[in-house]
Amino acid sequence: MPGRLRRGWTCAHLRITLRPMPHDHHDDHPHALLPPEPALRVKALETILARKGLIDPAALDEIIDTYQNRIGPKNGAMVVARAWTDPEFRARLLENATAVVADLGFFGRQGEHVVAVENTPEVHNMVVCTLCSCYPWPLLGIPPAWYKSDAYRSRAVREPRKVLAEFGVTLPPETAVRVWDSTAEVRYLVIPMRPDGTEGLDVEQLAALVTRDSMVGTGLPKAPA
Ligand code: FE
Repeated sequence: MPGRLRRGWTCAHLRITLRPMPHDHHDDHPHALLPPEPALRVKALETILARKGLIDPAALDEIIDTYQNRIGPKNGAMVVARAWTDPEFRARLLENATAVVADLGFFGRQGEHVVAVENTPEVHNMVVCTLCSCYPWPLLGIPPAWYKSDAYRSRAVREPRKVLAEFGVTLPPETAVRVWDSTAEVRYLVIPMRPDGTEGLDVEQLAALVTRDSMVGTGLPKAPA
């Protein structure tokens, strides 16, 4: 009588070997099979490609800077600030975010289907990609390292309140936490609640209060100065 079947275990009777299946379990996910020093591997590849003249390191830096600093997360912040100030825009955004953000020019790679979810005193929304790292690039830029980590991907679903507390977000007990699992098909944008004391601010000033984390649901917008 065999005991528990384990991955890599060969059954002499059935003449089969159990192999890890992608998406079978978090630990077996392709992203978890990266070499222990992925950053080093990437650097090595970049060096080889640059030496062979196949890539221009300056162009690569430009692309990264675009997504890291210039796009992300300013586009998303502008969308949120507009939703705070324009009820008609907010209604359209909640109904069909993909079309609304595309009208603003925020579309393309990793942003094909966007759904906006709104925080209220009753519900706090939080976004994760349990499978890998799907994220609305055209709105928020490149996902932060923690978003791609195994710990965040599993714990955000299992113990969202605890994860939020570690991000410094403590919600009233009556506020429910809703966790949205991103996929290659759907990316989420959290519309955080507009902070108090921002009545006189214009859209630009409001956008400056909208942090990246507040649009993932792991943070809250900044308070006005
Ligand atoms: Fe993903």
